[in-house]
Amino acid sequence: MKIDILTIFPDFFRGPLDYGIIRRAKEAGLAEMNLHDLRAFAHDRHRTVDDRPFGGGEGMVLKPEPIFECIETLKVAPREDRRAAKQSVILLSAQGKRFNQAEAADLSGLDRIVLICGRYEGVDERVGQYLADRELSIGDYVLSGGELGAAVIVDTVTRLIPGAVGNEASTQQESFTLGKATEGNSSTCVSGGLLDYPHYTRPADFRGMPVPEVLFSGNHEEIRRWRRRTALEKTLRNRPDLLDGVDLNLEDKKFVAQMERAEEDNREGREH
Ligand code: SAH
Repeated sequence: MKIDILTIFPDFFRGPLDYGIIRRAKEAGLAEMNLHDLRAFAHDRHRTVDDRPFGGGEGMVLKPEPIFECIETLKVAPREDRRAAKQSVILLSAQGKRFNQAEAADLSGLDRIVLICGRYEGVDERVGQYLADRELSIGDYVLSGGELGAAVIVDTVTRLIPGAVGNEASTQQESFTLGKATEGNSSTCVSGGLLDYPHYTRPADFRGMPVPEVLFSGNHEEIRRWRRRTALEKTLRNRPDLLDGVDLNLEDKKFVAQMERAEEDNREGREH
């Protein structure tokens, strides 16, 4: 996959994309990353990339010309042909559609992604309207620039490129992933869109904090059930919104009903 990042701070990316899975994916030729300094596409002596907003108001806005001109040198497909060409030009924006694991999986199937990082009060709206084919936000908060968002997207997408993670089964069973159950290890369970189950490693007893007994039982079915139950518990506690999008089987539904009952008993206990 070819990844291009447009930014006024190319040095920002020194570091975040140089470690672990992302570094190995680059070294293995699975992902090629190129940084483009928007100031190189400004034509005045001061290399100006921003200007005051029409209509008045706070702050400065990134001008459209450097962004359009930079993209033109990259020879990406025209907007209407991008899907077919397996390309996407993405504008990072707090007003964008919220980025998630499904969007990451979709992007990981493309051959080329281009990320435009905004700054100041944002980017001239025509960039999102006529040039980018997606506008993505990494969450409901305002960053000071799109660079951190671009790094988040590059990391999430790159690790899903086939071959980037040594054991592909592991990216199939993670949090938020509607992955396929893999054969061979009957004690794991796919998250199916829930949060991941808890993981433990040695020591079995760390400063009096023990690892749950069931994990030593050798009973794969029991371990799988425990993992499913704890994943459901954590999802119900931290992200109940995820349960709406998940196909729960009969056993799951029983667990959830049990947990909700226990929660209710708890509440009543506190009230009396
Ligand atoms: N005035 C804008 C915020 C501009 S922040 C608003 O209120 O919506 C400056 C830049 O940071 C944006 O252009 C965008 O590229 C980036 N940015 C800010 N928050 C972001 C988020 N949640 N996700 C992705 N990019 C974000």
